[in-house]
Amino acid sequence: MFFTNVLESLELQQHLQPAFVFLPLENIQLNIMYKELIQQLGTARLVAVSKTQPHEAIMQLYEQGQRIFGENKVQELVPKYEALPKDIEWHLIGHLQSNKVKFIAPFVAMIHSVDSLKLLAEIDKQAAQHQRTIDCLLQFKINDEETKFGLDINEAYALLESATYPNLQHIRICGVMGMASFVEDKAQIQREFKALKQIFDTLKARYFPNEASFKEISMGMSDDYSIAVAEGSTLVRIGTLLFGARNYGNLQ
Ligand SMILES: *Cc1c(COP(=O)(O)O)cnc(C)c1O
Repeated sequence: MFFTNVLESLELQQHLQPAFVFLPLENIQLNIMYKELIQQLGTARLVAVSKTQPHEAIMQLYEQGQRIFGENKVQELVPKYEALPKDIEWHLIGHLQSNKVKFIAPFVAMIHSVDSLKLLAEIDKQAAQHQRTIDCLLQFKINDEETKFGLDINEAYALLESATYPNLQHIRICGVMGMASFVEDKAQIQREFKALKQIFDTLKARYFPNEASFKEISMGMSDDYSIAVAEGSTLVRIGTLLFGARNYGNLQ
């Protein structure tokens, strides 16, 4: 498969305008990286984080077989959904404001960043309007950074024991999500991922013991995914490693 791609790419190159020659070469590099990465992840699934990336870069990965893509902004997610193949599973991984839920409710596959009952209720309401059930993860604050969003365990208990929660028939809580601190200290990152796994286990035992769909631990990014996988991640959110450094200047 890999060698066929190389041959095709080299052959293709000979017929292309000079300006486009770089594309097949990038494609070759991506192919090697992608297959290696998928192997390293084992049973954890890859969410390819395509924020700021152009459609062509997403399509290169799509052609390698990747179907789950993650975006952190509604205004970037919607046009990509509209333009790109409909069998892509789009995950919203960034902070979500209640007033923007309606724009993604028709199609979003999973929302990783639920951090309040108010947001969950709004997702439920918008999902109902489209006769859908939207899969959600509860985001926890496991790092020591001031600016990051997320619940603590007591807020999660309050949410799951609220009078409102049982009435939300159009959302399904499938697990938890968290981001480790941006530090060099691997031991600290490992502690934070262990804490998220512990939160998952506690919630599973207390509220979801018989629900097979409560199974996701979304943790790990380009710099810390191997630690996350070792600590039990089931969904790894990787951008930079796949696409290269983001160029925020590309955006309108
Ligand atoms: C951007 C982003 C990622 C991916 O980060 P990389 O370091 O580029 O892999 C993962 N999760 C969230 C929530 C993000 O916003």
